[in-house]
Amino acid sequence: MTERFTGSFTQQEPIPEQGIAAALDVLRHGRLHRYNTAPDETAETALLEQEFAAFTGARYALAVASGGYALGCALRALGVGPGDAVLTNAFTLAPVPGAIAAVGARPVYVGVTEALVIDLDDLAAKLDQARVLMLSHMRGHICDMDRLMALCDAAGVRVIEDCAHTMGASWNGTASGRHGILGCYSTQTYKHMNSGEGGLLVTDDAELAARAVMLSGSYMLYDRHLAAPPPETFAELKYLTPNVSGRMDNLRAAILRPQLAALPDQIARWNDRYRVVDQGLRDTPGLRLIDRPAAETYVGSSFQALVLDWPAPKVQALLARCAARGVELKWFGAAEPVAFTSRYDSWRYAPADPMPATDRILAAILDMRLPLTFSLDDCAQIARILRAEISAVHQQG
Ligand SMILES: *Cc1c(COP(=O)(O)O)cnc(C)c1O
Repeated sequence: MTERFTGSFTQQEPIPEQGIAAALDVLRHGRLHRYNTAPDETAETALLEQEFAAFTGARYALAVASGGYALGCALRALGVGPGDAVLTNAFTLAPVPGAIAAVGARPVYVGVTEALVIDLDDLAAKLDQARVLMLSHMRGHICDMDRLMALCDAAGVRVIEDCAHTMGASWNGTASGRHGILGCYSTQTYKHMNSGEGGLLVTDDAELAARAVMLSGSYMLYDRHLAAPPPETFAELKYLTPNVSGRMDNLRAAILRPQLAALPDQIARWNDRYRVVDQGLRDTPGLRLIDRPAAETYVGSSFQALVLDWPAPKVQALLARCAARGVELKWFGAAEPVAFTSRYDSWRYAPADPMPATDRILAAILDMRLPLTFSLDDCAQIARILRAEISAVHQQG
């Protein structure tokens, strides 16, 4: 009897009861817009920002409509505009080059290493081409942030961190999103907190924070924020900063606040699952696991491993065999972009020179989500199935 996994890789946990109750309160009073508050009422959105600033240790936080919006807002706040070059990862997801293209700028891609992080040597060679790096901690893998920041600081390149997969993670004790000048997070359903759509942005820089607040569409109501700079900071900026509406609403914030309180426990649960898969796949012939550096505190909400230098038909055979046993793998080597998986050479609006070393890694990445609806037994079963199928296909040569 070959076992078959029957869980769903896209099924997240329900919204916690406390979030449902808070959402019903908002629905019943009807004041969903963040600046629509009763006398003496503090908006859920403002409270979420205050709590998220405390969670990350940032001076300022802003809640917005999506993670992609947060990235675009960060670029605009830094004054990135038409024709500017922005360094970014070749291994990332579509909202990252999309945010760059949306302000009329042009991504300059930096390669990926076998550890699935940005190639710092490639970055060093390209630092003179741009004044901003949009660094994507893709799938939660964090590069040597000390070295990256030293390189960027020396070159005068400012760093925006895309923490869509690292909310709650850290490097050398500093929260992800707090190394660069701005940190951006997503609260879309597949990330570490779920409000359907949503995003957060943090910074210690008062002027950038004020610009971001104005950009998000605060009209002149910035004094209703609890995690924004004081009104003086807005004195000039309010006349100079366009409104590019992208606010978060009180309904989403109400859903998110209890999730933020529970995030440390959720991270521990994700990492329990990650470790079961990792252990189950140790020493699988043909498979290269990703060693996590000691300085990195990660959130194991997804799992990646490499089948290095396997020819494409062999990987395709593996994917088909795993799928037949209920294990859904994503692959970054397919010729055509599929679902959430696309590649730098699929983004034809932002053409790139060929990157053979990066292509070799992308063609080897096996990727799967580990939603918290999976039990530890589920994770052990997934690892058994993967191990069996990878070994079988590997042996076929
Ligand atoms: C999800 C995601 C984002 C932001 O996406 P939204 O769907 O706009 O919230 C940004 N970068 C990466 C790598 C992502 O996975």
